[in-house]
Amino acid sequence: MTDTQRFLCDAIELAYDNVEKGGRPFGAVVVREGEIVATGVNEVIESHDPTAHAELMAIRAASRKLGSPNLDGCVVYASGHPCPMCMAAMRLAGVREVYYAHSNEDGAPFGLSTAAIYADLAKPFAEQSMRIRHVPTRLEARPELYADWKRKQGGQA
Ligand SMILES: [Zn+2]
Repeated sequence: MTDTQRFLCDAIELAYDNVEKGGRPFGAVVVREGEIVATGVNEVIESHDPTAHAELMAIRAASRKLGSPNLDGCVVYASGHPCPMCMAAMRLAGVREVYYAHSNEDGAPFGLSTAAIYADLAKPFAEQSMRIRHVPTRLEARPELYADWKRKQGGQA
């Protein structure tokens, strides 16, 4: 068994443990330099948090443990195909590689696929199912939000 398969099996074991506790069948493991930094399971049901996906929980735990929002060099192993939210979060965190064990095709018969969201997000905003509109708005007294932030940081706008 390769290291990749071993970490994916760890993620699947976490998913099974979560199912035993009444949770959804998703687990994730964050690895750096061959060592597990943190793990996570889907906590959406128990926490009433729609963003409490296994990958996000693992990323949050890894960031806390490493004391940094930058997970550069980390690899994520997930029991299932990461959803677009988790995929974006992993990118924002600087995760280098992602491996997953169960595909969206595997999950589709059980209502566990996010393929439809991926397809919707690939469309222009105007064609997506969620209404998204850019409404350029500024505070009259403070119209330079980003420049003000930069100045507060001591940098140049
Ligand atoms: Zn997700």
